[in-house]
Amino acid sequence: MESNFVYTQPVEIHFGRGQFAHLAEILAARGLGRGVIVCGRHFAPKAQELVEANIGVCAVFSDIREEPQLSGVAEAARLAGAHGADCVIGIGGGSAMDTAKFAAAIALEQEDALAYFNGERPFPAAHLPILAVPTTSGTGSEVTQVSVISHGSTKRTINNPVFMPSVAIVDPDLSDTVPARIVMCTGLDALAHALEGYWSRNHQPISDLMAVEAVGIIWENLERAYRHPDDREAHANMAYAAMLGGLSFALPKTAGCHACSYPLCEHFHISHGEACAFTLDSFVRINADERLEKLCRKAGIGDTERLARRIGEWKEMAGLRTRLSQLGDTAPEQLARESAVHPLMNNNPVAMDEAALTKMFEVLR
Ligand code: NAD
Repeated sequence: MESNFVYTQPVEIHFGRGQFAHLAEILAARGLGRGVIVCGRHFAPKAQELVEANIGVCAVFSDIREEPQLSGVAEAARLAGAHGADCVIGIGGGSAMDTAKFAAAIALEQEDALAYFNGERPFPAAHLPILAVPTTSGTGSEVTQVSVISHGSTKRTINNPVFMPSVAIVDPDLSDTVPARIVMCTGLDALAHALEGYWSRNHQPISDLMAVEAVGIIWENLERAYRHPDDREAHANMAYAAMLGGLSFALPKTAGCHACSYPLCEHFHISHGEACAFTLDSFVRINADERLEKLCRKAGIGDTERLARRIGEWKEMAGLRTRLSQLGDTAPEQLARESAVHPLMNNNPVAMDEAALTKMFEVLR
């Protein structure tokens, strides 16, 4: 073993079908009895039932949109304050979990959320514990200290220990209902997390192991889950792989593909998963080296070109956009300029300056 590293993973993970039914016990074991649920709209009726069942949940905030806004964070924090909540339970895709994480961080102080968003005020030391319950198989937000929130058209990825969940409940029963196109978008996001954690300049051995495992599981299960809504095994495997994807990038962070996703989302208002997928096959080719070939062999893929080709086929299969001309008329040079200055671009193993990124976006025109 050549490398020195520090590895931490503080989240208590409950994984498996039926685990969500243990929410009451998990809350009680921690002395929690006044949780506020922050969830996507699809989960709102079930969340209301939980309030009525008197299991330690007192209120529900379900006004969550894709690309969640700071105004939703502020409202959820106010609701938690008004109810004297002792924890925030985020149930949904990344949009709901990230809103819950930010709301939990500021609920006890109730200061202007914008000051935290802009970095003008440090997050309070005292914050509510977070329980994170994913209902998509993609972001891995349940195991990261990241919250991605927008204010108007400014989208920020804020990385802060206050956002680390105490508990993650990953119950594939909750993600069985995800529509096929979202299965593909979120699955490609999970694949991007595992690949970028692996090829990040800050990669480290334990994260690498999880990345290889995640990529292998996604290779075997993403198309199955996309094609077969009732393939419970494939959906459960994707829920597991998405969580592993989160663990793969939690410490090394992501790289070029995620750096490019920000301008793509801001200009074209596409989902995070579709934006990451847009350049993922390009970055597989750009970053192909002996290490990546090794991952492809270990994950049962064969080689990097096969991986890149399959990503392209999956995007076509699910109707995701693969050309800039399908998205809008922003010039490759502008996307390149904005991607080049994103801090995550520094993590890419191959240095990508504006000229190299312009060349990449030109090919995708
Ligand atoms: P999402 O949370 O926006 O959900 C997508 C859609 O799927 C929504 O309409 C939602 O209501 C619906 N949905 C969710 N679960 C469902 C279910 N079980 N059945 C039916 N419909 C369901 O999408 P996402 O891809 O999970 O999250 C994207 C967000 O997460 C973006 O804002 C992205 O930037 C962020 N993100 C965060 C992290 C992190 O570490 N915090 C990592 C990656 C991405």
